Amino acid sequence: MTNEQIWQGVLGEIEINLSRANFVTWFKDTFISSFEDGQVIICVPNAFVKKWLEEKYHKNIISALENTTKQKIDQIIYKIELRHNNEPIFQVNEPKTNPIKTASQTSNSISKSSDRDINRGTNKHGLNPRYVFENFIVGKGNELAHAACLAVVENLGKSYNPLFIYGGVGLGKTHLLQAVGNAVAQKTDKILYVTSEKFTNNYVQAVKSGQAKEFKNLYRNVDLLLVDDVQFMGGKDGTQEEFFHTFNELQQNDRQIVLTSDRPPKSIPAIENRLISRFESGMVADVGKPDIETKMAILEKKALEKGFPLDKEIITYVAERVQNNIRELEGALTKIIVSHQFKGVNPSVNSVKEVLNDYVSNIKTKSLTPKEVIESTAKFYSLSYKDLISKGRKKELVWPRQIAVYLIREEIGTSYPSIGIELGGRDHTTAMHSYNKIEQEVKSGNEKIKQEINSIKQLLNSDY
Ligand code: ADP
Ligand code: MG
Repeated sequence: MTNEQIWQGVLGEIEINLSRANFVTWFKDTFISSFEDGQVIICVPNAFVKKWLEEKYHKNIISALENTTKQKIDQIIYKIELRHNNEPIFQVNEPKTNPIKTASQTSNSISKSSDRDINRGTNKHGLNPRYVFENFIVGKGNELAHAACLAVVENLGKSYNPLFIYGGVGLGKTHLLQAVGNAVAQKTDKILYVTSEKFTNNYVQAVKSGQAKEFKNLYRNVDLLLVDDVQFMGGKDGTQEEFFHTFNELQQNDRQIVLTSDRPPKSIPAIENRLISRFESGMVADVGKPDIETKMAILEKKALEKGFPLDKEIITYVAERVQNNIRELEGALTKIIVSHQFKGVNPSVNSVKEVLNDYVSNIKTKSLTPKEVIESTAKFYSLSYKDLISKGRKKELVWPRQIAVYLIREEIGTSYPSIGIELGGRDHTTAMHSYNKIEQEVKSGNEKIKQEINSIKQLLNSDY
């Protein structure tokens, strides 16, 4: 076996257990340069990949190497080295890029003077100075996104472009996005942070007032473009068109783009395919719910910052009670501090419990299961649970089934593969399709559906 063949075998095995985005990120442009007496030298394109392979994938690589070669591997050395021949070891679907255009405009066209809505407490780039890496706690749910952000800062426009971060509300996407901006602000001034809504509004405004050219100059001449909540571009065709061109122009000139969204590119409803493929062309990283350790670390740090340190016991208690996201965790902490300061008492587990009883019951602590959602949906449509998870494809069944998918996703956030399993072993693409279909109906203002969904939600709340 040649080194090339061995590495192909290893990659084949590793790929099975990784998302495409992860796989491409960590294994693109890697190869074996030497394999002798159980010692392997694996070449990687940069220090970031090296560190990540050493820390995260070392065991997987050893075991895949041993499986492939049927030899014991004693040592792996990861070495930073670029491949000499340009033949890619595996095909990555990268967008065809057009010849690089030169940016003819100068940097002074980047002026934010037209922005009237710079928030209080934000700096000149519209960034909140509180959102920095230094106070971002890294844990299981966010380590990939965090690492990717650091890599982007270190190697602007050259490591992952674009970087696409997605995940549920309150999990730190905006914090990370702005942390990139704040870090890069130390090197360049040409930074633009916008929500996709603001991009849309600016664009519409510019076209109306005959300033489309100025708009283009502003957005296409930055070193770093940060777009928050890009899912809101769904359905806005004109904006998507403009964004597509902005995007290409920046990407071709190695200007960095970082995007956030509440869902992966493919699941954004009513978004053009060419944009999806652009969004996926760099790195896609998700942020998930924090585990208990991360929540505790965040609480401890934030309590200290606010000059109100809490005992470990209290911190554990709060971290266990607040389930959903970090924003709620912060809300709970603020509530605890205010309440104790007001009463002038020192916090104890009991007194904290009292405060949280009000707070947590308001933020829905009952955890709903997919099965309960399916049952309630079936009940609403006078069907049985079995009907809904059956293979039957009659119209009377298909519709309620799609509604159930939508509700499970909305109310619980279950992954598509798991939803498919819950619904009688369906494929995840079916689940995704169902969700998109109902979501589109809801968004397009289908009142009948909205009412049905609300009624089922009420059933869910009353039954469980
Ligand atoms: P999202 O954009 O995903 O909805 P945000 O970035 O607005 O979430 O985060 C919500 C709040 O939680 C912010 O105040 C943010 O600073 C805080 N936060 C989120 N993740 C972390 C973290 N890992 N460490 C510290 N604070 C965090
Ligand atoms: Mg956000």
